[in-house]
Amino acid sequence: MLRALSQAPMTKLPEDRSEVGFTDYKPAYSQVQAAAEANRCFYCVDAPCISKCPTAINIPEFIRKISTGNVEGAARTIFSSNILGMSCARVCPVEVLCVGACVYNDLEAPPIEIGKLQRYATDAAFAAEWEFFQAGPDTGKSVGLIGGGPAALAAAHELRRLGHAVTIYDAGGLLGGLNTTGVAPYKMRADQALLEAEWVLKIGGVEVVQDVQVGRELGFDELQRKHQALVIAVGLGEDRMLPLPGAELAGIHGAVAFIREFKLNPVDLRAVRHAVVLGGGNTAIDAVRELLGLGVPAVTMVYRGSEAQMSGYAHEWAAAKVDGARAAWQSQPLAFVGEDGHVTAVHCARLDADRRPTGESFEVAAELVLVAIGQARLGEFAAALPGLEVAQGQIVVDADGATGCPGVYAAGDCANGGKEVVNAAAEGKRAAQAIDRYLAGAPGARGVTNV
Ligand code: SF4
Repeated sequence: MLRALSQAPMTKLPEDRSEVGFTDYKPAYSQVQAAAEANRCFYCVDAPCISKCPTAINIPEFIRKISTGNVEGAARTIFSSNILGMSCARVCPVEVLCVGACVYNDLEAPPIEIGKLQRYATDAAFAAEWEFFQAGPDTGKSVGLIGGGPAALAAAHELRRLGHAVTIYDAGGLLGGLNTTGVAPYKMRADQALLEAEWVLKIGGVEVVQDVQVGRELGFDELQRKHQALVIAVGLGEDRMLPLPGAELAGIHGAVAFIREFKLNPVDLRAVRHAVVLGGGNTAIDAVRELLGLGVPAVTMVYRGSEAQMSGYAHEWAAAKVDGARAAWQSQPLAFVGEDGHVTAVHCARLDADRRPTGESFEVAAELVLVAIGQARLGEFAAALPGLEVAQGQIVVDADGATGCPGVYAAGDCANGGKEVVNAAAEGKRAAQAIDRYLAGAPGARGVTNV
């Protein structure tokens, strides 16, 4: 039975879910702190911070507004470029984006805390319930969005501003995608992501159909009959697991699935004294820090490369080390060792600098193993739509997000292979604007041949 709602539901989450035990790692600014930081900004004319923001927020403009006490105007500036500005203020890797580009870095002085200023303005907007945007005049056109994560929400909002009817088809029961189920809780909790989804859809006119698997329970052909354009924003699939001896033992989980579980429910890790996380990306680092935060005394990351080679952000790993994280570099898991059906250790081979076995092997104790080696990419999903091309598990799109199937666009992780929330927000909005041109029959719009 499909559940159709005129607006996003504010789903009640369990109050005893494990994520609530984490504290905010970047506490919010007070008014005085925000004003002091905003006054440090040079309001650069050719601001490099803007060019590093995928949504191109006018950063000096919103900071200047904070400095003059116009917080509502600052929030308007942010949301005009990025409707997910509240969550991006918390989850963006600003160290490698806007803050990393701030001119203060060249002066060997602390860069402007752009993320914290953005949070100050957007939190104020949520608290005061300022409303900035209205739906555009009805165009009579309808767009179906497959997925309910950041890319879909950004696309939905922009399409409504442009006057198109929108329906979101979401496979899960919670809007927000990984923003709700996958963000480290010391950055943002699930209830904040749900609140944001609700806030975005306050623009009105977005139908949300939840608990529906497009391609299985609901065919593409049906959606194409109902809508004049579609956006595929389904994210990535389940965790990829390692088919090693002992993989059937209890206590071995995919990292994304585990993170979802403790964000939405209580988990009891009192029996876990040692945990191992396999992988070297940002999900692996998040999992390490989260396990330490959940009280596991010894957490070891096992990664095939060196510390310098890991794909996770260096600043995140530095923070993990401060939390007490351990690492086994240049190590390849060979088998899971168990007792009474439960994992007790990971058997590993030592690798050399070229990732060849050295002949040395060792075991790392683990009553819990999280596998963070990536998520499954799209496969059968794409076969149902003629013209939709998939390469290396990603939907192939042009610069506007258009696929090879006329009127079908894609945005977010399913098209970019797995990037940041801010990338998904940018791509969702860009696809919405391209669809607007497509529906208007604009010259050059992808799929339009009669102009
Ligand atoms: Fe302000 Fe730094 Fe951006 Fe210049 S680069 S506008 S100083 S935040």
